[in-house]
Amino acid sequence: MEPQPQLLQVADGVFAWIGAGGDSNAGAFQTPDGLVAIDAQQYPRLAQQFRGALTAATGRPVVKLIDTHCHLDHTAGNIMFADVPILAHQKTLEAMHTALGPLAGTHWTVSDYATKIRFMFGMNLFDLVPESDPAQPWFRNRISLPDYDTMVIAPPTETFADTFEFRVPGDVVRLNYWGPAHCDGDIVVHMVARKVIFLGDLLFYRRFPWLGDCDLDGWIDRLGSVLTLDIDVVIPGHGPPTDLTEVKRFRDMLIALRAGVDKAIKAGVSEDAAMREVKLPDYADIPRYADWLPLDVKATYRYLRGR
Ligand SMILES: [Zn+2]
Repeated sequence: MEPQPQLLQVADGVFAWIGAGGDSNAGAFQTPDGLVAIDAQQYPRLAQQFRGALTAATGRPVVKLIDTHCHLDHTAGNIMFADVPILAHQKTLEAMHTALGPLAGTHWTVSDYATKIRFMFGMNLFDLVPESDPAQPWFRNRISLPDYDTMVIAPPTETFADTFEFRVPGDVVRLNYWGPAHCDGDIVVHMVARKVIFLGDLLFYRRFPWLGDCDLDGWIDRLGSVLTLDIDVVIPGHGPPTDLTEVKRFRDMLIALRAGVDKAIKAGVSEDAAMREVKLPDYADIPRYADWLPLDVKATYRYLRGR
């Protein structure tokens, strides 16, 4: 049987929806008015399943959706939440306009491969993986389900800059934007008293990350900020709930990658040679390591050369 997504209660009134096989996660927290959902899954059918599971588990309506960042696998289900306000950082809305072009009425309607795959992996996807690249078929296959054929995507309807707070009984929920990281617009959702944090794609757990459109220095710095917080439960963007130990391990991996590529550049190694030679043996057991490390080295090489 195919793996299925799972709804877990991770603290009082706090839920994590863990994507099947490392697919994107979502979550929710209760407020006196109803549930605030966090991220909307990668296509409407999954979004509906997620929302249905929340309602079944709590008997409460969803009153708001938060998008942690712009990428398709976290926002393409927005349309199933279009009856409630959708909240995101203003940079997330800007990134969606940049990737998806003009709205058709109140939504975007997208069917071409290039637009969809850039929206999922970053605007520079074809710079890193040209149409002729042997890695391209993987990307085409990634969005080959009929659910991705023609996507109707709802934009955030409310935006904020830097911080936003919800007061809930006995807790405060802080939405923080600390600058570009995994993409531009990443926010973390921190329940201070419950010591729970939703990191969006600032953390991939048990999956090697895609670094294509990241700001690597920013990402490492943001995770450093996360490590200063008092947190018991960390919900990554992909993978099961974990704790700060894994945040540190993931951050150490990004630092090791940056150091390895930086050393190659300083030694005069070409981009192609760096893609073959830079290895991270301590992390080689993580799924997608073999597929993505060379492309992540390429992205990091260009990032370090360009900064
Ligand atoms: Zn992402």
